[in-house]
Amino acid sequence: MEKADQVMAATYKRFPIVLTRGEGCTLFDEKGDAYTDFVAGIAVCNLGHAHPGVAQAVADQARRLVHVSNLYYTVPQTELAEWLVEHSFADRAFFCNSGAEANEAAIKLARKYSKDRGAPERFRIITMEGSFHGRTMATLSASGQSKIHKGFEPLVDGFDFVPFNDLEAVQNAITGETCAVMLEPIQGEGGVQCPVSGYLEDLRKLCDKHGLLLIFDEVQTGMGRTGKLFAHEHFGMTPDIMTVAKALANGLPMGAMLAKEAVAASLTAGSHASTFGGTPLVAAAALIVVKSLVEEGVLQNCERVGAYFKERLLELKAKYAFIQEVRGEGLLLGLDLAIDGVPVVKACMDRGFLINCTQEHILRFIPPLIIQEGQIDSLIECLGGIFEDMAVDIS
Ligand SMILES: *Cc1c(COP(=O)(O)O)cnc(C)c1O
Repeated sequence: MEKADQVMAATYKRFPIVLTRGEGCTLFDEKGDAYTDFVAGIAVCNLGHAHPGVAQAVADQARRLVHVSNLYYTVPQTELAEWLVEHSFADRAFFCNSGAEANEAAIKLARKYSKDRGAPERFRIITMEGSFHGRTMATLSASGQSKIHKGFEPLVDGFDFVPFNDLEAVQNAITGETCAVMLEPIQGEGGVQCPVSGYLEDLRKLCDKHGLLLIFDEVQTGMGRTGKLFAHEHFGMTPDIMTVAKALANGLPMGAMLAKEAVAASLTAGSHASTFGGTPLVAAAALIVVKSLVEEGVLQNCERVGAYFKERLLELKAKYAFIQEVRGEGLLLGLDLAIDGVPVVKACMDRGFLINCTQEHILRFIPPLIIQEGQIDSLIECLGGIFEDMAVDIS
């Protein structure tokens, strides 16, 4: 830990444990202490750690072929794209290595699509306050949080922010220069903020009325996290472009931008590229991930255990006045506190549970989707003890 703090860029404030091994929903540190993992690599390891199928696929593919240029065809990438288009609204996939890159591709595509349609003046994208789209220059500029902009100005031009869940604000922000609206169906890093009833459906209609592309950033909400393969499926509507990443390859770096044919047609040969995008190694891993999500009953488990988890969090809320709200869908759940959440995260860690806190006061629970009721019960008991101590301190 001391060495790390000397030789690595200090971009992360790390907790003082060294993790060396994982199995399912459990992580082990170098002392052999076990932690039940409610972070899952920040909504990445949806199938849990050391998933045997993924490990086998990676080992087999590593022995066969790790990487070739996208100047050539490869089978795993093609099979993965086929699976994704068969299981979504989209017709085509572009592969990259992260959520930010997937969003970059979406932003570039929205601009190019307007140009190709003879409207080069339409390049602006409406995005949401509190959103998070990544840390590259374009995606940090698209993110509606000043803490992410700070120090990196001037921002990339072309993003207009409106409050989340405010349809009228979107309507008022549309100009002759607008080409798209981009948002997370449920804001993750922004604090597990859910769309109000009818909002996404109305946004779809508004985009259609004005000829705007609707872009969903499902980097966090996708790949089963909310109990459906993609979060927008809860709302019976589809975007024109969607980005996924985080859980796509269960921890191997992979992102994808998916789009309908009429829109994807603007990505012509040479217009966009990625050296590592969709490499056989990560594509082989992702193929096993997507098949496991469906075939191993992972989505059903997420839905069932997620509902149980939410109920148990509501029980806590009924007991402690400093719990303001329980939010979320599936296994993307948030506990909004009126007090600092970081001490709760630390206390959980001391008791063998890893949880996350975002925006300083919202506890975010994003465990592997294979987690079981018993593990939820253990965490609730742990949180109950911590909250009880805090309630005594406050009173
Ligand atoms: C994590 C995240 C990103 C950024 O993904 P990276 O892989 O870190 O670039 C973008 N959008 C959302 C919604 C995310 O949760």
